Parts: sequence; structure tokens; C-alpha cells
Amino acid sequence: MKSVTILGATGSVGTSTLDLVEREPEAFAVEALTAHRDVEGLAAAARRTGAKLAVIGEESLYQPLREALAGTDTECAAGADAVVAAAARDADWTMAAIVGCAGLPSVMAAVRRGGAVALANKEALVSAGPVLTVAMRTHGATLLPVDSEHNAIFQCFAHDAPRSVRRIILTASGGPFRAWTREAMAAVTPEQAVKHPNWSMGAKISVDSATMMNKGLELIEADHLFPVGHERIEILVHAQSVIHSMVEYIDGSILAQLGTPDMRTPIAHALAWPRRMAAPCARLDFAKVGRLDFEAPDLVRFPALALARDAVAAGGARPAVLNAANEEAVAAFLARRIGFLDIAAVVADVLDRYDPPAPASLDDVFAIDREARHRAAGAMEAIAA
Ligand code: NAD
Ligand code: MG
Repeated sequence: MKSVTILGATGSVGTSTLDLVEREPEAFAVEALTAHRDVEGLAAAARRTGAKLAVIGEESLYQPLREALAGTDTECAAGADAVVAAAARDADWTMAAIVGCAGLPSVMAAVRRGGAVALANKEALVSAGPVLTVAMRTHGATLLPVDSEHNAIFQCFAHDAPRSVRRIILTASGGPFRAWTREAMAAVTPEQAVKHPNWSMGAKISVDSATMMNKGLELIEADHLFPVGHERIEILVHAQSVIHSMVEYIDGSILAQLGTPDMRTPIAHALAWPRRMAAPCARLDFAKVGRLDFEAPDLVRFPALALARDAVAAGGARPAVLNAANEEAVAAFLARRIGFLDIAAVVADVLDRYDPPAPASLDDVFAIDREARHRAAGAMEAIAA
């Protein structure tokens, strides 16, 4: 029996994880489940799995959660600290699937506990990469990448001989506006932006895919996970999302991981690691796929890519500033307060004006994150005026 905790259990990655866990009740015991506001979804998942603990992030929802779980043995808790406490509880495997830097404290708690941490929450690694990496080493935690590209690279990578790797090819679908002009993108609505052509995902990452900031964040994520040097990580647009990423070796060999776009494949890989388990995904039909297309990314139409490239090269606090400004800008876009093209413009503006020293601790990261959000809010007021 593997004991598992799912942070962000009601989201897109969280429910896919639950789906796999529930298919093999003899293999997995659920320790804790957390959600932000979705009491019903959380309580239903806790009832189905017999979770020992259910935590709702929003403190005022404690009573409704208690009521929804009345008559069960599931312990209830509420509030941001309770989410972190859930992550710190003993479990063999933790899925970190909270969206945004809000998930960083719980990721850190899981890492400090020292087990296997399946990481979907890329923003945590982007903001606090060096701090998290040191904590992982100190506490002997294993980070298992869940992001489909990083999971693909993880499966193809020579972990014992990183110097035999010549480059990593990080594939990108290009999002729903891959072939659009800047003029057309200016009028994009939140509804259009969250409609990804290949993947079904939460709203924030869907908007990131549309601006291609998602690929920028993934570049920074890959730089922390695979020690080849950021200049050896190439971004390649591959609209079909069949190849999830590739690793090229010094002898010219290129290894790729392929599959249908279903997050249950990389999640199953992380859940069963170092073994394999069955996943109920659609199977790849190569005759139907017919061909695979590739193109170079367009840094002019998708300036978020260039911003992330600069941030990974500069290091220090730049990735945390980029991430925080982007989270604020995406939220404002989803709330219809700024336009689609303003997202990258706000991030660029904050990066231009705010250049703090590199964070040495988690508290430094949070301080940088707060200040960058504050400045993004200021930049957006200027746009709205
Ligand atoms: P989602 O919005 O569907 O779900 C987010 C989850 O986090 C929910 O359970 C929500 O209750 C919880 N949450 C949100 N804000 C919170 C807060 N402040 N405190 C505590 N909990 C909070 O998001 P998602 O699409 O499942 O993405 C989750 C993470 O995985 C993101 O970092 C995303 O980039 C990454 N990821 C997602 C996919 C995908 O296919 N959805 C693929 C690769 C990576
Ligand atoms: Mg991805």
C-alpha cells in the first residue's frame, strides 16, 4: 500500500490523480486531500476514497466541510496553515497540484518531509527553484515531474550521465493562437483563451498556454530539473502534442516520449514510479496521426517566451518576479480588466522596474512575490486608466 496525499485535489490534475488512485484501491491509501473553495468536490472525493484528512483552504468553509463529511471518519481542517500541515503529514507520495505560487508553502512542507513529491505546481519551482532544490537535497526528497514535457524528459534523460546529453527539446503546442496575428490576438476573450486545442486544463495554465508563458515557465522548470544548462534547452512548436519532449545525446541519438494528450499518463508514471501502472488513456493511432509537424517558436508574436528566456539566463529573483507578475496579469485578464496582449506587457513592465537581489530563503521569495504582485497591480491600473 502506498499512502498518498493530493494537494489541489479538486482541480484538473487533482481529479485525474484521484481517478488513477481510485482505480486501484488495493494499491493506494489516501492520507489527505486539499482544495481551495470546492467543499462539495472535496467532500465527495474524501467519501469515495476514505481519506483520513480533508482540508479546505478557505477558512470560512470549515463548517460546511464538517457538515458535508458528517458521519465519516475523515478529519476536517481549514485555512492556509492547515493545507501546509496536511502536506507535512506522513505520506509515501504527494501530488502537488495547487495552482500558482500559493502552492509553494505546501510543496516545501512535502519536500521537508522527504518522500516522493510529484510536482505539477510549476509556479512553485519557477519562483523558488534554488531554495527548493537545496531543501530536496537536504531532506532526501524525490521530485517527480508531472508536467507532461518534464515527465517526458525525465523518462528519456540519462540521470547518471547528464554530460552525455547535448540538448533538451521542449515541445510546445503553440496554444489556440499559434497561427494568429498580433492584431487578432488583441481582441481575444477569456473564453477563447481557455479553450486549448489539445489539452483540457485549469483556467490559469490554459491562458499561459495561449500566451506561451506556459512554455517560458516550463523552460525555467526544466532548467531546475535537468542540469544541462538553460542554453541547451530548445523550445520547438509541435502543434499535435504527440511528442511530449525529447532528449538529444552527444552521439546524435534522440529519445522522445510520445502519447495522446492525457495527463493521466504522466501522473500514472509519477504515481507508480519506479514501476509502471495501467492508465485508462486513449491509445496513439499512428496511422490516424499520419504526420508530425514542427516549427520554430515566434518570439515576436509571443513575447512571453523571450521574457522567460531572459529570466532564466539572469537567474536570481527574475523568475520569481516574472511568475508573480504573470499570475496577477492572468487573473486580471480572466476578470476582463486587461486585454490578452497586456499580459506579457505587464510582466515586461514589472521586470523592467523591479530587480531585487536573489532570494536566499523562502521568506525572501515570498517578499519578492508580494512586491512583484503589487507592482503588477500598479502597471495594470495605468493600463486601465
Ligand atoms: P486547477 O485550477 O484546475 O486546480 C487547482 C487546484 O488548486 C484546485 O484543487 C484548487 O482548489 C486548488 N487551489 C487553487 N488556489 C489555491 C490556494 N490559494 N490555496 C490552496 N489551494 C488552491 O489547476 P490545474 O490545471 O489542475 O493545475 C494545477 C497545477 O498543475 C498548475 O501549477 C499547473 O500549471 C500544473 N499543470 C497542470 C496541467 C493540466 O493539465 N491541468 C498540466 C501540467 C501542469
Ligand atoms: Mg506542460
